[in-house]
Amino acid sequence: VKQLPVSKNPIEVRQLSQSFNRLLNRLNQKIENEQQFVSDASHELRTPVAAIRGHVTLLKRRWHEHPEIIDDSLSYIDEESLRMKGLIENLLTISRGNHLEVNKEKFNLTEFTDKVVSEIQPALSQKITFNGKSEIFVRADKMSLYKIIIVFIENAGKYSPQDSEIKVKISSENHQVELQVADEGVGIPEEEKINIFERFYRIDKSRSSEIPGTGLGLAIAKQYAQLNHAEVFVTNNTPKGSIFHLLMESIEN
Ligand code: ADP
Repeated sequence: VKQLPVSKNPIEVRQLSQSFNRLLNRLNQKIENEQQFVSDASHELRTPVAAIRGHVTLLKRRWHEHPEIIDDSLSYIDEESLRMKGLIENLLTISRGNHLEVNKEKFNLTEFTDKVVSEIQPALSQKITFNGKSEIFVRADKMSLYKIIIVFIENAGKYSPQDSEIKVKISSENHQVELQVADEGVGIPEEEKINIFERFYRIDKSRSSEIPGTGLGLAIAKQYAQLNHAEVFVTNNTPKGSIFHLLMESIEN
């Protein structure tokens, strides 16, 4: 056992004990966060597992007399297992934290974003428009940026009316590039703007609504942003909705 420094000076003893307590509190907080993560993750996984088990039981009991339920149940099981797969992938991403692998390379962010927008457009009922100077170069991990842009656009789609518009914009100034995804949706109250980037956090309205989600998307976006020395945050759109921002360094062509 390592010998702790012994001091008879009461001021020194008090300082030492204060810093020891601070360390202990930080450690306790970390353990509590980890326990909360495991408990939230288990809770999220329980729902699709229960649904799959329910349908398997139903199939086992009734497929002889009612073969027509087979198709329905199988597609339900298929859907739920896909949801579970996505959830597990997200959980792994979150738990790897700063140890995620990134492969930085130089590329044109405008061209890249344009492609991502065209790829996701068919999956959304809203119209996505894209605006950006033709050449803005960054040095970053493409996969990270892909994930961040997808989370922003998918959320814009989930939390805004079907016939509204989603505007994606890229601008640059003083070696800084900013990517924005603006929607005309429900918006985010001021006091929730930091919380939504925490893992498993969902604003109560979306938690109780029919909008599917686990509260991991923005936590993953924040994690990928940090790995690329970028920043993510949200502001209000006027007159309605939110604007999600990604801010990072740009480089010369
Ligand atoms: P999920 O969408 O799976 O719940 P996210 O981490 O992506 O998880 O988002 C966390 C929460 O932030 C959402 O549950 C929702 O309440 C809120 N949110 C995210 N994007 C938007 C948006 N574009 N407009 C309004 N609320 C949003």
